[in-house]
Amino acid sequence: MDRKGYVMGGLSFLLVVPAILLVAVFMDMAHVGGESADTILKSDTTLYAAKDIEEDIPVQGLEVLREEAEGVVKTGAPVVNSRQAVETALQKRMDLKAEEYYNSTGLRVNCTIINVNTASDPFEVEVNSTICVEKDNVKHRETVNQNISIKDADSRIPDPLPFIKCKSHGGVTNNTGRILYGSSLAKYLNARNVSNATAYENATAPLFIKKCPYDPYDYHGTSQNYIALKNCLENGYFHESSDGACFLCRLEGKSTCYHYGFETFIKPAPSLDGTLTFAPCSSDHVIYNDTDPDGSGTYRGKAIEYYFDGVNHFKLFLDNGHRSKYGLPTFSD
Ligand SMILES: [Zn+2]
Ligand SMILES: [Zn+2]
Repeated sequence: MDRKGYVMGGLSFLLVVPAILLVAVFMDMAHVGGESADTILKSDTTLYAAKDIEEDIPVQGLEVLREEAEGVVKTGAPVVNSRQAVETALQKRMDLKAEEYYNSTGLRVNCTIINVNTASDPFEVEVNSTICVEKDNVKHRETVNQNISIKDADSRIPDPLPFIKCKSHGGVTNNTGRILYGSSLAKYLNARNVSNATAYENATAPLFIKKCPYDPYDYHGTSQNYIALKNCLENGYFHESSDGACFLCRLEGKSTCYHYGFETFIKPAPSLDGTLTFAPCSSDHVIYNDTDPDGSGTYRGKAIEYYFDGVNHFKLFLDNGHRSKYGLPTFSD
């Protein structure tokens, strides 16, 4: 009996061994599980922080673009190296953000703006950056490429170019949400020996950049009674253009650049006299093309009357290139 009992005891022991092993394994798993849950929690926190910073870049970026443009509106002075200026101002804002983050959460956040440039869509500005978030031994790092949109009127980004070009010719006013040239544009053109400059006495232009919704553009001219063109001019829209300067180059006072940019019409004041046939082409990049000192960059356009209210003639002056682009009839003389 004793011997049998001993054997049974041995067997029981053997049976218990796997159970002990299992418990040991479970205990270890529980331990490991606890540790990885903690790691996941930390990496979640860093991911959230990175996401937060990422979403903030275009918001801060848009404010920087507005500040730069408003600075030009105030002073008429061009921004020297606008890409660098925007990058520096945005970096300053993101550094402040990182400091706030560290103070409130203990997370070490670093956002480095690598560069700022014109995007392939001229109504966007491209920002490249890296975001790094650290907590204890968990580190999250990502490279981000974002485009800031300036196409909506809500962005309230003024077109800086007229303020730079007309600064030394009497300047422009803008308290009505439009640019009122008074005599400054005619003076600017006269100073460059451009003929029929008087056509732009009291001309107006849009203040804030907003993308024209009449796309494809030929609808401006093919719509009944040029109604789309009239609406476009009244609303002050901007159009994509390979000849017009991009926003960042406009900040530097350039009317043309090698980037894909945009253009807007400068609207001559309505006139009682409907006989004027030729005047400088009403596209802003033609009016402001002062790269040649003899004024030849500003070529002429032929009058197109898009509206007559019974008293005043509403006209634009356009060359055939711009007429084709906007669906308007071309001329041969
Ligand atoms: Zn338009
Ligand atoms: Zn450009």
